[in-house]
Amino acid sequence: MKIHEYQAKALLAQFGVPVPKGRVATTPAEARQIAAELGGKVVVKAQIHAGGRGKGGGVKLANTPEEAERAAAQIIGMQLVTHQTGPQGQKVKSVLVEEQSAIERELYLSVLVDSTSGEPVMMASAAGGMEIEEVAATTPEKIIRINVDPATGFLPYMARQLAFGIGLETRELLGQAQKLMQGLYEAFAAKDASLAEINPLVLTADGRLLALDAKFNFDDNALFRHPDIAALRDIDEEDPLEVQAKSHGIDNYIKLDGNIGCIVNGAGLAMATMDTIKLAGGEPANFLDIGTVNNVERVTNAIKVILDDPAVKAIFINIFGGMARVDVIAQGIIEAYRTFNITLPVVARLEGTNLEEGERLLKESGLPIIRGTDLYDGARRAVEAAAGKVA
Ligand code: GDP
Ligand code: MN
Repeated sequence: MKIHEYQAKALLAQFGVPVPKGRVATTPAEARQIAAELGGKVVVKAQIHAGGRGKGGGVKLANTPEEAERAAAQIIGMQLVTHQTGPQGQKVKSVLVEEQSAIERELYLSVLVDSTSGEPVMMASAAGGMEIEEVAATTPEKIIRINVDPATGFLPYMARQLAFGIGLETRELLGQAQKLMQGLYEAFAAKDASLAEINPLVLTADGRLLALDAKFNFDDNALFRHPDIAALRDIDEEDPLEVQAKSHGIDNYIKLDGNIGCIVNGAGLAMATMDTIKLAGGEPANFLDIGTVNNVERVTNAIKVILDDPAVKAIFINIFGGMARVDVIAQGIIEAYRTFNITLPVVARLEGTNLEEGERLLKESGLPIIRGTDLYDGARRAVEAAAGKVA
């Protein structure tokens, strides 16, 4: 789960990380009021879950409360397009109005779970700001990484090493950097985050380190033990199909860009299915692990989510029944045909427990389901069906 910048900054502040003074506004009048309280010189920042807002026109400097009101009027309600939103953009509902900072240097600092080592890694760079993706792609040596053993936590020598590496070398700055990094790591660990990022971390003209932007991603599987974090969820920022899937208890649906809707049991098989679709020349429209289901309604609901995706041109159902029973899956497919007007081609590759009963049900139903004999055969037929070729 992601949260907004203003929420991320409030969280960082709880852990002693310095952030600019400011508040969130949902109307231009409110933005003007906050700017007046802050002395007039502010920055007005679109609150959406995607990054790249600066380049997309979602961050504006204002020197008077009137300018802040105008900037907020331009930003609130706009469909903000950034390299992270996709071409359709994301509608802005609120802005963060903050005191302006005089920036001396823009640095980068983050903690994330390193999938290679399985440990948190803290990363820092002297080349922070809006070009950090470019830096990572072309000059990765400018990003310093230190792995943190969760058993010992973040240690002072790590802070010194990172701080020196990004040019914070005076005793005063080292002290500030250590406290800030410690706070960032503790927020990350205490709240089961998968990413905590400050970009830019700025050094101000008067020598203070400040988190000018903040971003958190949280591990959804740990949200149950952080009701304070779960309460920050903003459903408007999430993919509507993913929200619909979750509301049916289908937690493992992820919307992708292709046109073959996938219904699979088991995360590993779901990954293999997507790979095989690609191998056969197609593109999956989603990742979906329906889990071990012996519940007809869940299968039907999963099919509904796929049908509601306008990009889907064919459906590929790939089931290897172990604990899950193929006959229940078959009933779910039949029920979906009965309930919804399915005109898309459906390819099913079914194996495993109660296959014979499942086969019998599908045969009796007389439905035009295309059968795949194995994983590759099913994927190939789905790719052909999505391309409009009769399988
Ligand atoms: P992002 O583009 O979504 O990552 O949004 P950021 O919060 O990182 O803002 C983008 C850029 O706006 C920053 O890299 C800064 O260069 C600039 N910016 C943000 N706040 C201030 C500010 O208070 N003063 C100045 N001068 N620039 C700012
Ligand atoms: Mn940023």
